[in-house]
Amino acid sequence: MPVPGLPILEGLYPSTMDLYPFEAKEFNRIHPFYENLRQKRFTTTKCKKCGNVPFPPRVVCPECNSEDLEWVDLPTQGKVLRFTEEVAGVPLGFESPLIHALIDLGGGHKLISRIINCKEGQLKEGTAVKLAVFEVPPMIIEKKGVMIEAERVFFAFEPVK
Ligand SMILES: [Zn+2]
Repeated sequence: MPVPGLPILEGLYPSTMDLYPFEAKEFNRIHPFYENLRQKRFTTTKCKKCGNVPFPPRVVCPECNSEDLEWVDLPTQGKVLRFTEEVAGVPLGFESPLIHALIDLGGGHKLISRIINCKEGQLKEGTAVKLAVFEVPPMIIEKKGVMIEAERVFFAFEPVK
């Protein structure tokens, strides 16, 4: 099945080239993460038993194995701790520079994310970055015998202007 929406991939590569997760609730037990992301909320799961707040969100607490979890908001702004900037030879479907950063969101929350809307050489350690939500090609799924396009979003971070 071709990946729709990305002209460079249209009809050329099978869906195994798709880099984004199946987000629809029929396939994904952390689908609320993506629904919240669509509302520009950056969320994860908090364990009601031991209080652990891991990222990415889980369906079982990695500390105490409890399944009694709730959704909580994470900060949507942070600071770059370390980063890599790939200028040449970026993978198909990505633009140069391809930047990934370790971001400190505060409160003990750190994550690695792609940085977008950032020129080569612009990012520094300590640069303030904020959540950026963008649409990705929909997933074609079958629902009650009908093929539908399940819309998807994903996130990166971008420098605060
Ligand atoms: Zn727990």
